[in-house]
Amino acid sequence: MGTLREFVVDVLESEGAAVEPVEPDGLDVLAPEALREAMDWPELVRLGFGVEQPAGAVPIGLEGDWLDRFGALLGERGRFAERQIVLPDAVASPGDPERWLDRTLDLPNAVWRLQGVKPAWTRCLLLAFRYTAISDERREGLIWLGFNCGTGAVMNDEMLGRLRRLLADDMQWQAPDPEAQSADGALWDVAALSNRAQPLLNHHVRRDLEPFLRAVRRRLDRDCARVHEYHDDLRRGALSKLAALQSAPGDKAESGRKRETMRVAAIEREYAVKLDDLRNNYAMQVSVDWVQALVLFAPVHRYEVQIKRRKGQRIVTMDWHQSVRMMEPPLCDWGLGLERARLVCDEQLHLTDSEGQAPCTSCGKAWCRACHDTGCPRCKSSASAGNTHGMRD
Ligand SMILES: [Zn+2]
Ligand SMILES: [Zn+2]
Repeated sequence: MGTLREFVVDVLESEGAAVEPVEPDGLDVLAPEALREAMDWPELVRLGFGVEQPAGAVPIGLEGDWLDRFGALLGERGRFAERQIVLPDAVASPGDPERWLDRTLDLPNAVWRLQGVKPAWTRCLLLAFRYTAISDERREGLIWLGFNCGTGAVMNDEMLGRLRRLLADDMQWQAPDPEAQSADGALWDVAALSNRAQPLLNHHVRRDLEPFLRAVRRRLDRDCARVHEYHDDLRRGALSKLAALQSAPGDKAESGRKRETMRVAAIEREYAVKLDDLRNNYAMQVSVDWVQALVLFAPVHRYEVQIKRRKGQRIVTMDWHQSVRMMEPPLCDWGLGLERARLVCDEQLHLTDSEGQAPCTSCGKAWCRACHDTGCPRCKSSASAGNTHGMRD
C-alpha cells in the first residue's frame, strides 16, 4: 500500500471511519457524520490514490489541499509522543570497547581512559522542524534533530537517519514501561533545549537551503545584468547625442542639450527603480516551525570515560545504542559539535569545538567559551566571544 494511502487509513480510522481497501489503489470509506462534514463527503465515499483509479473514486494526491485537510483533522494530536524502542533481544556490548571509543573520541589536547561499561536505558529527544523559504520560488523541508538527554550528546546525521528508519519500519509502537521510564536523563527545560537546538537548526536550515539560495542568487544576477545592459545602452545613446550637441551654438542645440540631460537622469531613475523591484522580487523570507517531538526510551551500553588534562580530570558518559549498533558522538559543551575533535579546557575540562578554545581577537590569550560566555576573562573584550554557539547546560 502506498504511504499516502496508509496515512489516510490511519487518520480516517482514528476519526471513527470504517475503511476497506479496493483495487487498484483505492479505499472505500464509511464516514461518521463529523468526518463527512469536515471533508464534505457523502456517508459512503470511494477514494483513489494511484494513476489508475477505481471506478467512481475521488482522486487523492499530494497536490491540491488534501494534505492540509487531513492535517486539519489531526489538529494538535501527534505533536508530542513517548515511545520505547523494542528490540527482539538485548544486544551485547561490542567487544573491544576501547577500539569503538578510539574511533569516536578525538581529543588532541587530553587523554582518556575507559572506566566501565554497563547496560542502561536512556531518554532521547527527537525534534522535527519544518522550514519554508519564499523568494521568487518556494522551498519547504523538514529538519530532524536528536539529543541524548542522558549523556548530553547530539546525534549525528547517520545515527539519526538509522534511528528514524528503524522507527518507521515495522517496529511495534510501545509506550515506555516502568523500567525504561527509570531511564537516565531528565528532559531538558525549554531554555536549555532552545540553547542547544537553535544554533543546530540554523546550521541545518542553511545547509539545506544552500543550493536554493545559489539558484536564486544566479537568477538575480542574471536579471540585474539584463536590466543593466538595457539601461546602459539607453544611457550611452543619450550621452553620445549630448556630446554631439555639446559645442553646437543656438537655441535649438541648447534645448536639445536640456532634453538629453533630462533623458539621462530619467534613465538613471528608472534603472534604480528596476533594481529595487528585482530586490523585492528576490528577497528571501525563511520561517522555521516546530512540528513534532518524540521522547524515545532507548537501550544502550553506557561507557564511563575519564578525561584527563594537565592536573584536572572529569568523567563523561557516552552511549553505544543497541538499536542502531552505533556509538554516539561525544558531548560538546560549546559549539555545534559537528567536527569529530573536541578540545578540552584547563579550568573545568569542558569539551568544545576548536573555536571554543580559540585565542582572544583583542589580547591573543586563548580562553574557554564554555567557562566564560560573556567575553575574554583577561581583557573583558566581549567582541571576541565570537559566535553565539553557546551550548551549556
Ligand atoms: Zn582578551
Ligand atoms: Zn571551560
